[in-house]
Amino acid sequence: MLATSQPAIQKRQPLAATMRALVFRGPNQIAIEEVPIPRAGPGEAVLRVTLTTICGTDLHILKGEYPVKPGLIIGHEPVGVIHDLGVGVTGYKVGDRVLVGAITPCGQCVDCLRGDLAQCGGPIGGWRFGNTINGAQAEYLLVPAAQANLATIPKDLTDEQVVLLADIASTGISAAESANTKIGDTVAVFAQGPIGLCATAGARLKGASLIVAVESNPFRTQMAKRMGADIVLNHEAVDVVDEIKRLTQGRGVDVAIEALGTQQTFENALRVLRAGGTLSSLGVYSGKLTVPVEPFAAGLGNHKIVTTLCPGGKERMQRLMELVRHRRLDLLPLLTHTFPLDRITAAYKLFGERCDNVIKVAVKP
Ligand SMILES: [Zn+2]
Ligand SMILES: [Zn+2]
Repeated sequence: MLATSQPAIQKRQPLAATMRALVFRGPNQIAIEEVPIPRAGPGEAVLRVTLTTICGTDLHILKGEYPVKPGLIIGHEPVGVIHDLGVGVTGYKVGDRVLVGAITPCGQCVDCLRGDLAQCGGPIGGWRFGNTINGAQAEYLLVPAAQANLATIPKDLTDEQVVLLADIASTGISAAESANTKIGDTVAVFAQGPIGLCATAGARLKGASLIVAVESNPFRTQMAKRMGADIVLNHEAVDVVDEIKRLTQGRGVDVAIEALGTQQTFENALRVLRAGGTLSSLGVYSGKLTVPVEPFAAGLGNHKIVTTLCPGGKERMQRLMELVRHRRLDLLPLLTHTFPLDRITAAYKLFGERCDNVIKVAVKP
């Protein structure tokens, strides 16, 4: 009896201790692999991921444009159920549904204590998932500094309603916040991809009087209006700088949000800004970014240029979930497609090639 039952147990154990995860092996090399399920050490938690998504940043990683180490599980937008809790994490129990931000600040270092959670431990230091530690496109995920990062999901919200808060919504909305947008401000938002659409929503939440979005894609144009844009200008059909100046009686906007990361959109954002206005930049730039002297009033125009990395931590996630719960913010229209984790490479292809009017893809492990 013993001789026959033992091998069966030995076979089963490794199966139970592994999970499926999307592993980055090098530029343009990603695949689902069987890897060990992480275990929670002191101060950590392990989630069973129930929903995640793919970010534009993951596409940069896939193409080799943003370097991460081969063998890393990528993805940074987790919704899940607590599977394991390390010692020292209090106020949670196994089985709790939680949202964790893309940025996981420690809550203890000088950067965090100064209030700069995204820059925890140094430049871009708060971004750990799928960057410096294993990420969320997996069945299970190890969450560092769990006490600072597990945000309990209210019972009346679904996974789909909150998953986009982990990154794009927190980032997009932060553009209007970082610009210190005041009620009645005029705001221009350059590009209406997922982040730009959330920036439009953020401008509305902050009380802008007029929101002008810039986008050429018809589906995204329609979505921009749904998220709060009053006017959407097609940069392929009109001179957007002239048009925005005209819409603001020649004055320029109080806040211009750049949500693409190109020299041209950055420059246009500067050109439509009133004297003393704020350029709030969300884009990720590569190569070189230059500031043209004339719209910058030779450095004498009191312009402010601010940048923001996705605000994270559980307090931020809780605030954003309350916005959804009280119907101030609805991100469900942005979740245009759903794929099982096993088919995530097809989801990457669809998202990367912007097929079928995709905005964001939900991935279910
Ligand atoms: Zn992201
Ligand atoms: Zn920190």
